[in-house]
Amino acid sequence: MTTTELTGAEDVAWDLSDLYESGDDPRLDADVQEAEEAAAAFRERYYGKVAELSAAELSEAIGERERIESILTRAIYYAHLWFATDMADPPRGALVARLTEAGAALDTQLLFFGLEIADLEDEAAEALLAADELEHWRHWLRSVRKFRPYLLTEPEEKIFTEKSVSGVSAWARLYEELLGAVRVQLDGAEISFEEAMAKLHSGDRDERRRASDAVTEALAPGLRTRTFVFNTIVLDKSIDDRLRSYPTWISARNLRNDTTDEAVQALVDAAVARYDVVQRYYTLKAKLIGLDRLTFYDRFAPIADDPAKASWGEAREIVLGAYTDFSAESGEIVERFFRDNWIDAPVRENKRTGAFCATSVPGVHPYVLMNFTGDRRSILTLAHELGHGLHGTLALPLGLFNADTPLTTAETASVFGEALTFKRLLALEDDPHRRLNLLAGRIEDSIATVFRQIALNRFEDVVHTERREQGELSTERLEELWLETQRRMFGDSVEIDGYGTWWSYIPHFMGTPGYVYAYAYGFLFALAIFRRYELEGDSMVEPYLELLRAGGSKPPEELARMVGLDLTDPGIWESGIDALAAELDEAEALAGDIGLG
Ligand SMILES: [Zn+2]
Repeated sequence: MTTTELTGAEDVAWDLSDLYESGDDPRLDADVQEAEEAAAAFRERYYGKVAELSAAELSEAIGERERIESILTRAIYYAHLWFATDMADPPRGALVARLTEAGAALDTQLLFFGLEIADLEDEAAEALLAADELEHWRHWLRSVRKFRPYLLTEPEEKIFTEKSVSGVSAWARLYEELLGAVRVQLDGAEISFEEAMAKLHSGDRDERRRASDAVTEALAPGLRTRTFVFNTIVLDKSIDDRLRSYPTWISARNLRNDTTDEAVQALVDAAVARYDVVQRYYTLKAKLIGLDRLTFYDRFAPIADDPAKASWGEAREIVLGAYTDFSAESGEIVERFFRDNWIDAPVRENKRTGAFCATSVPGVHPYVLMNFTGDRRSILTLAHELGHGLHGTLALPLGLFNADTPLTTAETASVFGEALTFKRLLALEDDPHRRLNLLAGRIEDSIATVFRQIALNRFEDVVHTERREQGELSTERLEELWLETQRRMFGDSVEIDGYGTWWSYIPHFMGTPGYVYAYAYGFLFALAIFRRYELEGDSMVEPYLELLRAGGSKPPEELARMVGLDLTDPGIWESGIDALAAELDEAEALAGDIGLG
């Protein structure tokens, strides 16, 4: 960490007293105890009786269930936020561990409630869903019930849950441990996997190549073991899906993401059909960094040194300006984050790296954590997290259950806010080299979020399908499928010889099969809304804010309709990709103008 330069963010620390005074605030223990007692009373009152409840009684029960979870969630949030700013302080780690255990115990205690709701006969459930008393909980009820066709009997479910600890979760953990133990030998020294990967961002091609060779070498030992783990996890999933009668390997994931197999397939098709965007960009990038053609380790090379740094004050002005220009209301909400100390900004020792927004803290505004360095990326990160903050603030009155969004719509406001801010940054920049640099950074982020994730999804798709149809896949076969699916995206624009074993370090494949496409889904959904805003202007402001106010109380299709979009129309994905391609057009034109294209 080199923090010789001051950014003006040094004293921008959040004030958590809206949650609790401190880690030993007596209200913390009192809240945990209240949640535990209320959970015990809840179980006593409702266990085995959900089917007998009237609509009004069920509404009351769900309200109580939410209240109990809100109390504990608030305490858990506090513990995580307090911990994040000083992870070396033992009392903070201890509080997180203690509350995590309390949370798990509470979940076990209350699990029956969701199961009994899912178990209601369809006819009874439909009557309840139609009742006025349950209007507020309608979407939540549907979300709980949608798994009903795939649930097994209670004793079977119990075996599933208990055996998973020694089954699929154990394999996933073994994989994590194998990966965690990978050490890279580079230039005579041993470095971590992350450090080696970071060197792929170096401006020195020789350093990138050596780092990449070292990574390939480090991935070789244990490759057969990781192949076996992958096969086992894929097999386990296929057994699970067969017993539960899910139509495809990804159906369970789609259901959890509140979307459908058709919508996801349309997304995948749209992205695959536009792989030319990736190929055009990497062809341009090769020219920009003076190469005939990129090799896979050149993808993250910097295009130019950008010494321009923004102070915290400037970053605040740019981001706040972008939100205020969009709408006075969103500007006012975002301003409160700065004014009332809801942001923790500086780089500090023992602080969590990266950035996040604690969006749905029950009854309290969201909090934002980041590590502000003053570079352009940092400004966009601030805009991104404040988008989550805006979303969380607008949806707060809905309460915990209805405000909570699935992965597929969780990134709407953050990506949108980033797009607003990016436009402003670009408008403020006259120098063509720096404009090009800004655009290139933006396109690279988009490629990583959209096309790369879809290519990963295509790899998963063929692996899961082939495992089901033909049995175990060898290391060589996995390498072949990986290169095939990657080559399809890169075309001739990137040389990928030597890249064959790099599938084996991607944790999502093992930990959460099917997960990766959600990044592309969320990003393109937000960009499609942004594109509509660009075309239609201010008439989109209110519908968009209404969509944010609806939080997770409606399915994504309904949210999309609020802003005039149809999620069943593949055109929505194309429109998001068009927004991306327009940025690429501009980058190509700029490169031509300054004689680099
Ligand atoms: Zn985000």
